[in-house]
Order: sequence, then structure tokens, then C-alpha cells
Amino acid sequence: MDKLYSPTTAKMIMNKYGFRISKSLGQNFLTDRNIVDIIIRGAGIEEGDLVIEVGPGMGVLTAAAAEKARRVIGIEIDENLIPILRETLKEYDNVRIIQGDFLKMDLGELIREAKEEAGEAEKGNRESFTGVKIIGNLPYYITSPIIMKVLEEYAYGVLGIQSLTVMIQKEVADRIRAVPGTKAYGALSVAVQYYCVVETVTVVSKEVFIPKPKVDSAVLRLSMREEPPVKLLDPAVFFAVVKAGFGQRRKTLLNSLTGLKGMDKQQIQSLLERAGIDPGRRAETLDLQEFAAIANLVGTGS
Ligand code: SAM
Repeated sequence: MDKLYSPTTAKMIMNKYGFRISKSLGQNFLTDRNIVDIIIRGAGIEEGDLVIEVGPGMGVLTAAAAEKARRVIGIEIDENLIPILRETLKEYDNVRIIQGDFLKMDLGELIREAKEEAGEAEKGNRESFTGVKIIGNLPYYITSPIIMKVLEEYAYGVLGIQSLTVMIQKEVADRIRAVPGTKAYGALSVAVQYYCVVETVTVVSKEVFIPKPKVDSAVLRLSMREEPPVKLLDPAVFFAVVKAGFGQRRKTLLNSLTGLKGMDKQQIQSLLERAGIDPGRRAETLDLQEFAAIANLVGTGS
């Protein structure tokens, strides 16, 4: 398996299969054993885990995950990679590769099936795997949709999904982990931090990929919170407030929120005052609690 980590062999495999790299599918293959190990260690994969991988590519992470986990499911959109994966992963009988679009996958169904295959299909038994972990060197053109799909559909213990450990563009990682009052802080930071505790596993130079991307990457571990960090009357209203606030991030809250749920300036002014927030502030200065305070007042129609 070590051979796969060498750029020369990766190129040989591509030649053998007449495989052409697709830029539009965000294909940047990882060719560094150290980084693979760091990602797998960062994901905290345990022996009894089910791992779901987004975009296995030629199988470097998949193989390393298969050595640690009980079961690995890889979802790869590019049908030209399937025969390659069949070869590179042939020694692992705990890997299933599915050809398809991760964004269209019903992860719930996949996880339930995996539990059944594991022979432990008793109804309601979420413990048949010690945990479910998602990993991936994500295709950069759909980084946020992939992360948000998992968080919106499977947060707070649904189906036992515990974490996503993902390699993404460093700039997106900076936005995800940003704190209030910084330039990088925005709707993505609030959304991910609402669902997860964010940790940086490592920063990765662009030199370790074929082809070399334009920018460096970072690996983040997003661990699902067991419960929401703030109490919300209606999460949809919370996200509407966040979206409106950052939609016009240079404006004051008074201006950026006016129009939300049909509320006029005066109503927003009084609502912000009731929430104890200066209407002259901007969304980028608010923390989760402050967004929640506003949302919960909007939610009551005040
Ligand atoms: N995991 C491999 C590695 O680290 O070398 C490949 C990573 S590459 C950055 C991203 C992979 O995601 C590619 O194999 C690409 O074909 C696949 N991909 C792109 N869009 C996808 C989608 N919507 N669903 C599933 N896989 C996708």
C-alpha cells in the first residue's frame, strides 16, 4: 500500500488506467504518507467505527482508514476512479465503494444498511458501531455544501455521526474557525460553530498533491456537539438572522436586519434594544449568544 503515497506510482496508476484528472471535480490527490497518517489520527478513528469517506480518489485515505476502522464506505462521483479503487483497495474486505454524488446520498440509509450488514440490525440499536466518523480530502468546489449537508441533516447525535475530519482550502478553514470581530468571521463560522466544536488538526502545503492546487490546505476536525450551544425557539429564524446580518456585513444591524420577517426599522430598533444589543453594531461583532438573543425575539414576533 505504501506505493500509493509516491507521486511517481500515483502517475503510473493513472497511466495504466488511462485516467485523466478532472479539475472540475476538484481532483487533487494526496501523495504524502505523513499527512495521511495525521488526518487518520486527527479523525480519532477507533477499531469499532464506521467511517464514511467523501471522494476516495485513488484510495490513499480509504486504505489507511480501513486499517483502523471496522468498516469504511467511500463515495466517489467519478466512475473512472472505480476500477482504480478496485485495484488499490483489493486487500481490504471491510471497504465498500459507492459511485455517486455525496450531496445526493442518503447517509441515514447507508448507515442503517451498514449496521444490518454488520449483523447487528436490531431496531434502534445505534451502538452496532462504536461511532460514525466522516472523513475526506474534500473537492474544493463543494466544500461548504458537503459540510453543511452533514451538519444540517445529522447534527446532535442523529445516527451516531460524531465528527467530520476534512481537508479543505486553508482560507475556508480560516472562515470556519473565525471568532467574532475578525474579517474571516461570517455566516459559515456561525453555522459550523453552532453545530460543532472546531479544532485545527494541521495545515498542509500545496506541494503534497497531484496536481498541485493554487493554495494551501488545512485539516479541521468538526466534532458534533451533543446539544445546541444556545437555546433557540426556531433554528430557521436564527439562520435567517445570521444570513440577513452577514448579507450586508458593512451595514449596521439596524439596517441589515430591517425587512427581516417583514419588520420595519422601528420594530428592529426596539427588538435590538430589548435584546440588549446596540443597533449600531455590525453582524461581524456578534457571538452565537447574541445572534440567538435576536432570533428568539424575532421568533416571538416582537
Ligand atoms: N481522497 C483522495 C485523496 O486524498 O487523494 C481524493 C481527494 S480529491 C481532493 C476529491 C475527490 O472527490 C476526487 O476523487 C473527486 O472525484 C471526488 N468528488 C468530487 N465531487 C464529488 C461528489 N459530489 N461526490 C463524491 N465525490 C466527489
